[in-house]
Amino acid sequence: MRHENIPAGRSINLALSDRGWRGLEGVGIAEDIRKVAIPMNGRMIHTIKGELAYQAYGESGQSIYATSRALLNCEMMNLAEKNQVKIFFNHRCTGLDLENSTARFEEHQTKKEISVKSDLIFGSDGAFSAARLQLQLSTDRFQYSQDYLQHAYKELLIPAGANQSFRMEKHALHIWPRGGYMLIALPNLDGSFTCTLFFPFEGAESFAALKSKEDVEAFFARVFPDAVPLMPTLSDDYFHNPTGSLVTVKCFPWIYQDKMSLIGDAAHAIVPFFGQGMNCGFEDCTVLEEILNKHGDDWSKALPEFQMARKPNADAIADLAVQNFIEMRDLVGKPEFLLRKKIEARMHEKFPDKWLPLYSQVTFSNIPYSVALANGKKQDAIMEEVMAIPGIENRWDSPEIEKKIIDRIS
Ligand SMILES: Cc1cc2nc3c(=O)[nH]c(=O)nc-3n(C[C@H](O)[C@H](O)[C@H](O)COP(=O)(O)OP(=O)(O)OC[C@H]3O[C@@H](n4cnc5c(N)ncnc54)[C@H](O)[C@@H]3O)c2cc1C
Repeated sequence: MRHENIPAGRSINLALSDRGWRGLEGVGIAEDIRKVAIPMNGRMIHTIKGELAYQAYGESGQSIYATSRALLNCEMMNLAEKNQVKIFFNHRCTGLDLENSTARFEEHQTKKEISVKSDLIFGSDGAFSAARLQLQLSTDRFQYSQDYLQHAYKELLIPAGANQSFRMEKHALHIWPRGGYMLIALPNLDGSFTCTLFFPFEGAESFAALKSKEDVEAFFARVFPDAVPLMPTLSDDYFHNPTGSLVTVKCFPWIYQDKMSLIGDAAHAIVPFFGQGMNCGFEDCTVLEEILNKHGDDWSKALPEFQMARKPNADAIADLAVQNFIEMRDLVGKPEFLLRKKIEARMHEKFPDKWLPLYSQVTFSNIPYSVALANGKKQDAIMEEVMAIPGIENRWDSPEIEKKIIDRIS
């Protein structure tokens, strides 16, 4: 990737937030990445009529950051090599001998097989992990589930304007919520935006239904009218770029004795609607380091504690991510949602230690995801009652509503 033009794989840019930054700070590359990350301070909602509505993500100064996946990968490889890590490219792991801590690899071109024995193996090989598969095949009572969404994703492009100018607001994550599906766009450093269409595999409005370039152009002109003039290569990109599936993977255990552990997506692949998959993987590293320090580098103590600490949080962010898809593709465009957010923001401003919106707990804090999920459920119950109050749109900032919420939290 550093020498050849190899795509970084899934999605060109990602949203980096507090948990990710903490991980990068831990390895000393946060400042380098910050220089090339674009702060996105809020969502820019594009209605079907082409109107814009901006919603800040948090308090002033709080942002998520659009970051190039390739650049992050390159920085991390450079850092690893500076620390005497040797990287073998084009070697596919085909399986593990867990008992003997040995990993088997196949070299891509020669198909030569090699075995590598290690003190400790980390399976950090992503959502379709070969290391995880080996745990599943070789151990008793391995818990495993995979859930595919009925939606897939496809990347599209809004190129830069003249002189690398941005043709939409640069400091926002753009969303075209359309109920059953959505288009989003994140800014890139060169002035372009990478768009992602999250769209059903099948049905009247779906990937299966758009068969020709004319279908694609007519559909986009109808449902994303303000985006189309910005996408000159729309139908070419649509048919050229792959359609990716979206999976949640949960499993347990993540470790084998003190000899191997899964980490990142290999242990917990989640759908991308909270922008947390990578952030959660980086938080795995932060937590593992804290635990390892506590046990004086005794892996036989650190690994079991690591998986017990992370498993409930990985499960929680997996569920939150699925839940947030409905919020992003549907609710963000609705007046009730905007009112609810306004009430929550006001409560947070007046009582910051009593009310922190769920989005902020996940994105701008390191509150364990499982605690955020539980808090979110409580807040949901309270806000459902509040939103059902007759005439709430005229009384939302009254002392009476404030008291009702505070009484319920207490
Ligand atoms: C469309 C989309 C958008 C996303 N957006 C965000 C976002 O905005 N914010 C965010 O935090 N997260 C986001 N994510 C999630 C994020 O991409 C993942 O959580 C993250 O990449 C996981 O990192 P990882 O290192 O665990 O796995 P991966 O990034 O999948 O890396 C796994 C590595 O292992 C290698 N590998 C796989 N199998 C083998 C094998 N058998 N042998 C050897 N090597 C192997 C792969 O080539 C790859 O290099 C998004 C995901 C998708 C699909």
